[in-house]
Amino acid sequence: MQEENQEENFETLAIRLQAERTHFKEHSVPLYLTSSYKFDDSEEMRALFANEKEGNVYSRYANPNTSELIDKMAVLEGAESGWVTATGMAAIFTTFAAFLKSGDHVLASRSVFGSTHQLLNNIFPKWGISYTYADLDKPEQMEQGIQPNTKIIFVETPSNPGIDIIDLEWLAKLAKKHGVLLVVDNCFATPYLQQPIKLGADISIHSATKFIDGQGRTLGGVILGSNKLILEIEAFARHSGPAMSPFNAWLLSKSLETLAVRMDRHCENAMKVAEFLESHPRIKKVRYPFLPSHPQYEIAKKQMKQGGGIVTLVIEGGAAAASKFMDKLKMFSISANLGDTRSIATHPATSTHSKLTEEQRLEVGIEQGSVRLSIGLEHINDILADIKQALS
Ligand SMILES: *Cc1c(COP(=O)(O)O)cnc(C)c1O
Repeated sequence: MQEENQEENFETLAIRLQAERTHFKEHSVPLYLTSSYKFDDSEEMRALFANEKEGNVYSRYANPNTSELIDKMAVLEGAESGWVTATGMAAIFTTFAAFLKSGDHVLASRSVFGSTHQLLNNIFPKWGISYTYADLDKPEQMEQGIQPNTKIIFVETPSNPGIDIIDLEWLAKLAKKHGVLLVVDNCFATPYLQQPIKLGADISIHSATKFIDGQGRTLGGVILGSNKLILEIEAFARHSGPAMSPFNAWLLSKSLETLAVRMDRHCENAMKVAEFLESHPRIKKVRYPFLPSHPQYEIAKKQMKQGGGIVTLVIEGGAAAASKFMDKLKMFSISANLGDTRSIATHPATSTHSKLTEEQRLEVGIEQGSVRLSIGLEHINDILADIKQALS
């Protein structure tokens, strides 16, 4: 890595940390579409395979583009090291698979991403791995949920789509006291808004598909942690093959250059939407971390730089009112994705969380009238005007 004019500030690091250039002296990082690498001689080949020498061997292990993305993400989040995967779910699966064995137990926040829920409920039990869920807003459940065989505490904060928050510093201390790994899905916050490793977490995971790409173009996953833990991730990932393509790594690394300005605008727009919705008579409830009415507002202020780009509302009138509101939106896209330049509306009860029972949904704060809004980068007046007309 070549660190030109290195400053300690996030924006500068996100732009100036870059892979070394070739003899062509490219200003922008080239794309290395190569599956494998040449060795100078048989001795070099031996030394690289024996890990006696650093260098690229095969793109399932490393590639200049994936290495650049890893190095940047690690610096931006204050982690020693990292690994990247094809998707956010591959990052989550790889992390669990690297650290868990039959007989182990995972304590997870109840409101985890739908596919994470599927892994814990339906896939890991086949391999003898058990789980318990605890509510993010009832930290005592975290304490009570730790068992002698608990290996990992896994949380999403802010959670999707309930926007619940837990105090990461407190949780990291609890995990340390019990010798348990704390793994945080940091997808909603990105390294710009929240840095779990600095707050004491062992591993921070991102679906780079969301705000890190930020333009709805590609899938990707990132795992960050200490050198020691990432070596264990690598030992699993090198041989099981969840590798990110060089092309996607190149896109995502370029996206990091604009992450700070994009997140600033996402947050500014989302805050205005949250304030508007809170004052609207047809809205029963609004959840946004930086609204003083949020039950964990003080914690959000302590551990997040800003509130993020996601606002969840509950409309009066249940499922019918929610569909009507969504169908009347003219500019917002109806999509299951989030973290795009384009504003998006999702009805969690019938899409991302349709596999849950009604009771399970209510436990994670999803009502029939809940609508998750991913606030984009369009002009705030146009965003507000669309919401206003759809509610009228
Ligand atoms: C989207 C998402 C994931 C999964 O990421 P993919 O890139 O779609 O595999 C995991 N966690 C959260 C919080 C997400 O929003």
